[in-house]
Amino acid sequence: MNPEREARGEKLAANVVVIGGGGAGLVAAVAAAEKGARVTVLEARRVPGGNAVNAIGLFAVIGDKGTDINAQRDDYFKKTMGYAHWRINARVVRALINKSGDLVPWLEAKGLKPERTDFFGPVHASVVLRCGTIPEGIGYEVAKAMVKTCEELGVRFLYRTRAKKLIVGREGRVTGVMAVAKGKELIVDAGSVIIATGGFVGNQRLLKKFLPPYHDDDDIFLGGLPHKGDGLLMATEIGAATEIIAAPEMSVNRFPWSSCLFIIIKHPGTIWVNKNGERFTDESVHEAANSQYRQPGKTSYTLIDEKIKEAIFQSDLSPIDDTILKANMTLDVIEEKIRQSIRKEGLFVGSSPWQTIAEKDLHFQADRGRVKISSSWEEIAQWMGADPVALKGTIDKYNAACSQGHDDIFAKDRKYLLPLRTPPYYAIRCYLNLMVTHGGIKINHNMEVLDKRDSPIPGLYAAGVEAASADLETYNPGLPAHGYGFAVNSGRIAGESAAEFASGKQDKY
Ligand SMILES: Cc1cc2nc3c(=O)[nH]c(=O)nc-3n(C[C@H](O)[C@H](O)[C@H](O)COP(=O)(O)OP(=O)(O)OC[C@H]3O[C@@H](n4cnc5c(N)ncnc54)[C@H](O)[C@@H]3O)c2cc1C
Repeated sequence: MNPEREARGEKLAANVVVIGGGGAGLVAAVAAAEKGARVTVLEARRVPGGNAVNAIGLFAVIGDKGTDINAQRDDYFKKTMGYAHWRINARVVRALINKSGDLVPWLEAKGLKPERTDFFGPVHASVVLRCGTIPEGIGYEVAKAMVKTCEELGVRFLYRTRAKKLIVGREGRVTGVMAVAKGKELIVDAGSVIIATGGFVGNQRLLKKFLPPYHDDDDIFLGGLPHKGDGLLMATEIGAATEIIAAPEMSVNRFPWSSCLFIIIKHPGTIWVNKNGERFTDESVHEAANSQYRQPGKTSYTLIDEKIKEAIFQSDLSPIDDTILKANMTLDVIEEKIRQSIRKEGLFVGSSPWQTIAEKDLHFQADRGRVKISSSWEEIAQWMGADPVALKGTIDKYNAACSQGHDDIFAKDRKYLLPLRTPPYYAIRCYLNLMVTHGGIKINHNMEVLDKRDSPIPGLYAAGVEAASADLETYNPGLPAHGYGFAVNSGRIAGESAAEFASGKQDKY
C-alpha cells in the first residue's frame, strides 16, 4: 500500500495517532506499537527525525556501579526541583527521571549500544549517553533504529502531512486529527492522539507571546528547524492549559558554517571576548552561551593562538576527541562522517582527518571574513571593531592568570588556562543560536494534556519539548542533554499511556 497515495483525500483510522516524527514522536510510536496499538505517524517534513537528529547526548539516570540507583534518582530529582524552586511539576520530573532508568536495555533491544560520555563535562559523566559519533550522534542513531523498529511493528508513516486540527467527540474526547497532505485534507480517526511537534522557534507570534526577549531579534540565529508550535496551537484551541513557557535553549557559541571549526570553538582551552575586546565568561562551562546573550550584538569572538590550536588538534584536552576515541572508530570512518556533514553544508570537502579539514577551513572562512588570522592583536582588534588597547589588556590579563594558575575573574578550571603567546593568532566570529523552545502544553505524569481545571483532556497526550517539563527561565544545566533525554522518556510514557487509553485499559494513577 502506498501511504502517500493513501493520504490523498482518504479517511484513515488508527488506535494511536502521533503528530510529529521527531525525537519524542518516533519513540512514542514504537512504545505504543509495542503495546499492540495500530499507530499512524503524521510528519510534516519529507523525513523523520526532527531536531533530534542533531542531538549528541541523551540524559538518563542509569545508576553507577556500586551506587544505589534510587539515591541517584532522588539526587537528580531534588537538584532539578531545587533549581526550579519547585515551580515545575514534580511528578512529571520524577516520571521522566524514573523512566530513564531502563532506557539502556530498551535501546539495546533495538540494536543500539549507548554508552556514557563526558562531552557535556566530566561532572555529568554518569548520566549522559551517547552512541554514534560526531557529527552523527545519538539522536541520529536512535532515529534510525526507531524507524526500523516502527517498520517491523507495522507503524504507518505519512510524510509531508501537517496536522492542523484536533477533532473532538462526545464528552470532550479527542477522536482524531485533521491534517493536510499535498494541499488535500485528510482525516485520521484515532483512539488517542499524541502531540510531539517540537516547539515554536519558527513562530514569531508565539515567541512574542511567550518569550518576548527572543522575538524579532536580528542578532539571534535559528539553530534548528523552524517549528511553528502547531501542537501548542491545536491543543490550546480545544482548551488545553499552558504552563511556564520559557527556557530557550541556546547553543554553545555555534559557528554554523563548519562542524570542524565548531570543535575548536567548543574547546574549553579557548578564550571568548565580546565586541569590546573583553572576556565575559568561563569558556569551559556548557551554559556559557547564556552569557553571550548579554554581550553587545550578542556576538563573541573565540580566540586561540598557534599552540592552543595544535593542542586541540593533538587531542590533549578536547572532550569531543574523547568522545570520538571512545566510539572506537577508525580515523577514516570519522573522516568520512565529517566529510559528509561538510558536504551537506556545501563547504570545503577534504580527504584528511578533521584536523586537516579544520586547518583548511580556518583559511577558507578567513577569505569569507568570518575568521581573522594575524600575528598582531592590533590587527585582530581592528577586524573585530574593538579598541586594540582593550583587547591587548584582556590578553595580557588572561596570560597572567594562566601563569599564576588562577582565573580570579571567572574561576575557569586551571587545567584549561592556556596562554595566548604563540602567533599566528586566530579569531573566529561566533553567533548566538536559538535551538529549541522548552515547555508549553500543560501535562501530568502520564503525559496526558490538562485543561484549565487541571483535568486530563480524554485521549490527548503530549511529549517532547512542546510539553512542559523540567525547565524554568533557562535550560537547566544540571541536567545536561535533557532536551532530548526528556523527549525520549516522555515519548515512551506518552506512547504507552496513549495505547492503553485507546484500548480502554488505562491504569491511571
Ligand atoms: C543543533 C541542535 C543540537 C542539539 N543537541 C542536543 C543534545 O546534544 N542533547 C539534547 O538533549 N538536546 C539537543 N538538542 C535539542 C533536541 O534536539 C530536542 O530537545 C529534541 O529534538 C526534542 O524532540 P521533539 O520530538 O520535541 O522535537 P523534534 O525532534 O524537533 O521533532 C518534532 C517533529 O514534529 C514535526 N512536526 C511539527 N509540526 C508538525 C505538524 N503540524 N504535523 C506533523 N508534524 C509536525 C517536525 O517536522 C519534527 O519532525 C539539540 C537541538 C539542536 C537544534
